[in-house]
Amino acid sequence: MDDTPSVLRSFRDRRLVLALSERIRARSRKNIRIMEVCGGHTHAIHRFGLLDLLPPTIRLISGPGCPVCVTPAPYIDAAVSAGIEKGATIVTFGDLLRVPGSEMSLEGARARGANVRIIYSPIDALEIASSSESDVLLLAIGFETTAPAFAVAVAEAARRGLENLYVASALKLMPPAMTTLAAMEDCRIDAFLCPGHVSAVIGSEAYRPLAERFGLACAVSGFEPVDIMESIHDIVLQVEEERPVVYNQYGRVVSPGGNGRALGAIDDVFARAPAAWRGLGEIGGSGLFLKEEYSSFDSSRLIPAPAARRRKDLSGCICPDVLTGRADPSQCPLFGLKCRPGHPVGACMVSREGACYIWHKYSMK
Ligand code: SF4
Repeated sequence: MDDTPSVLRSFRDRRLVLALSERIRARSRKNIRIMEVCGGHTHAIHRFGLLDLLPPTIRLISGPGCPVCVTPAPYIDAAVSAGIEKGATIVTFGDLLRVPGSEMSLEGARARGANVRIIYSPIDALEIASSSESDVLLLAIGFETTAPAFAVAVAEAARRGLENLYVASALKLMPPAMTTLAAMEDCRIDAFLCPGHVSAVIGSEAYRPLAERFGLACAVSGFEPVDIMESIHDIVLQVEEERPVVYNQYGRVVSPGGNGRALGAIDDVFARAPAAWRGLGEIGGSGLFLKEEYSSFDSSRLIPAPAARRRKDLSGCICPDVLTGRADPSQCPLFGLKCRPGHPVGACMVSREGACYIWHKYSMK
């Protein structure tokens, strides 16, 4: 029985998807490497078997759009240290729990007695801090999609005068990372399937420089099969006709200028500064950090910047190559063997938005 919600049926219409597949095959002549930046797109592409509907001229490659995957080990190390050495309560989204640090994950810290609490919304951290006598460290990870919720939580914490809440921001911005990928000397990306949820906040116009400066075809896409196939079809037309633009396929959610209220909330609380990405290194202007007026919540007042530590041996892990589209997960010698969802070695096998996790889930059946 088809259990697809009725509101989604037209976006999952099999005949429409197959018709789009035929149109893509009919127009595609050049080899095109399309990076799906967002882990949500990677998941949908594999879940709905879309790779089988594309001609051999089209190659889809995963990108850095999984916030857990791009959070570097020193960030985890600092959180572990705050939990174990400072006795702070660590408050985090659940998918950060098993991300490897230099020596251990937050799950490992919890096993050693650290108090690690899972939240579903940043505002939950305020309730925890209000009822806690210890310091509380909120781990803020995510992209433009989740940044507004963290901004609102920080502003509300200030309004309530909370004095035991600290925020470690690893919030990141997508366009600077996409620009870095496009500018890499060995970049062979021809097009971006732009992240739909991020775009709902920043707007489709944010990608215009990628089309104009780098000549990359761009399509802001929804997450259903028809959305993705329509976006790929438009990318094929852009590449074949050599007219790179930003096509907004996800117009039912994404406007050209984005969500002004969400962007305003971010700008009220956070300032842009260089940030470290796992796999991509430091990227200028790609991180969101607390503004001066909210510095009393800055985690650096609780824990100093983490010193570089000797990394636990992850020999064989190629997460940086996976995150930059240089390799597919199946090219990793540990994939499906030493590294599995139940026993992740690298960050890309931890989150449901991680490329390795998704490839494993759908290719190892
Ligand atoms: S399969 Fe595991 S070890 Fe290999 S790149 Fe992916 S996460 Fe890293």
